[in-house]
Amino acid sequence: MKYVSTRGGVDAVGFADAVMMGLGTDGGLLVPETLPELDSSTLREWSRLRFQDLAVEVMAPFVGDEIPRSDLIDLVERSYATFSDPQVTPLRDVAGRRYLELFHGPTAAFKDVALQFLGNVFEYLLARDGGQLNILGATSGDTGSAAIYGVRGKARINIFILHPKGRVSPVQERQMTTVLDDNVHNIAVRGTFDDAQRIVKALFSDLDCKRAYHLGAVNSINWVRILAQTVYYFYAWGRLGGGDTGRRVGFSVPTGNFGDVFAGFLARRMGLPVDRLIIATNRNDILTRFVETGVYEKGEVYHTLSPAMDIQVASNFERYLYYLLDEDTQAVRALLAQLEAEGRMRVDAGRLARVREDFDARAVDDAGTLAQIRETYAAANYILCPHTAVGAAAAAEHPDAVVLATAHPAKFNEAVHEAIGREAPPPPSLHGLMDLPTRCVEIDASAEAVRSHMHETLTSA
Ligand SMILES: *Cc1c(COP(=O)(O)O)cnc(C)c1O
Repeated sequence: MKYVSTRGGVDAVGFADAVMMGLGTDGGLLVPETLPELDSSTLREWSRLRFQDLAVEVMAPFVGDEIPRSDLIDLVERSYATFSDPQVTPLRDVAGRRYLELFHGPTAAFKDVALQFLGNVFEYLLARDGGQLNILGATSGDTGSAAIYGVRGKARINIFILHPKGRVSPVQERQMTTVLDDNVHNIAVRGTFDDAQRIVKALFSDLDCKRAYHLGAVNSINWVRILAQTVYYFYAWGRLGGGDTGRRVGFSVPTGNFGDVFAGFLARRMGLPVDRLIIATNRNDILTRFVETGVYEKGEVYHTLSPAMDIQVASNFERYLYYLLDEDTQAVRALLAQLEAEGRMRVDAGRLARVREDFDARAVDDAGTLAQIRETYAAANYILCPHTAVGAAAAAEHPDAVVLATAHPAKFNEAVHEAIGREAPPPPSLHGLMDLPTRCVEIDASAEAVRSHMHETLTSA
């Protein structure tokens, strides 16, 4: 399988290069040149597989011959051995509504499903092909800890994660800073999340710096993250008896960067009978407005009770545009140029009709989020995390849609407490977190300060 850029400026590369490249060198996102087309007998066979075996089947065509099958099996097995549920992503029936629980990994949020695997793939490719990788990223919460747990203790990899000092939740901060492996470097920046992100961007766009320090990213534009997330759509369909009935299954997906819901779109394009795909957003509703009007225009960023979705530029959206525009990279570039010049872009009526065939969308505000947590708790004694609650509320008119449960509620106990007057008990992975030793350095919010800290760390090692 070869990969090309949504902007058409990258010569086709193989799986390993696509993984290591992250963002395309032309600024576009990498997509497979073609997608596998699955027939109903294949889907029926897959519907009976355990999660790990299914993951190997779904991913093998995308990996191609670059990783031998026995090695792929080993990577997948090791990646999901860290999950506390034997089904990895179990489907839960809660008073008639189905939740696909994606939070049984080491950091109790769905990003583990992809990042546990990506960390192992990085390690495997570096061991085979040589070289080293220094991952640099900024986090406002969930991504940082999932990335750290994905690569902790791995050979040839260092990870530097910036978080805004005192501005991530205590649990999230502890999840990062209690990881004491030598290759994990937490940096508390004296500033905001935007400052941290600005620093990371500055260091990546300094190409000398990027090359000298072998910088790599783990944000949701990496193809492997999307690929690993398609697996649980197939898995949920199988658990619902899809293999026997062939029935279509809808999903409601709490969305920020458009990664998770794009994975569902991809599963459908490969032939999985996916019914409605609901884009569930909080008050940061750029995607909902797009589905309603065909205009994609950045708005103000609001802080909400579902902070992992407080995003106004959905970085994976460009991948969807590429398919919406029938893989015409010139048309993608034209729309992006329009966005750049005018601060907005618009698709024509014909395309908009297709968008609405592909997706439903709904924005849910904080009041609606709290009401949903309260209602589900009252009905079934089941506590939703605020992101999952957005997904459930957005699907109110579609009781058959599977809601993706993206985080364990104990990670967001402030919102939970506000809704139901009690906290969710922590899963084993969050036990005793507040009593563990921590390691973190505090640095001024400047790119130069972070660069020189990286330099010292890497040269003294
Ligand atoms: C990251 C995250 C999301 C949003 O996922 P995207 O792939 O960015 O759309 C939703 N819920 C939780 C808990 C998250 O951590």
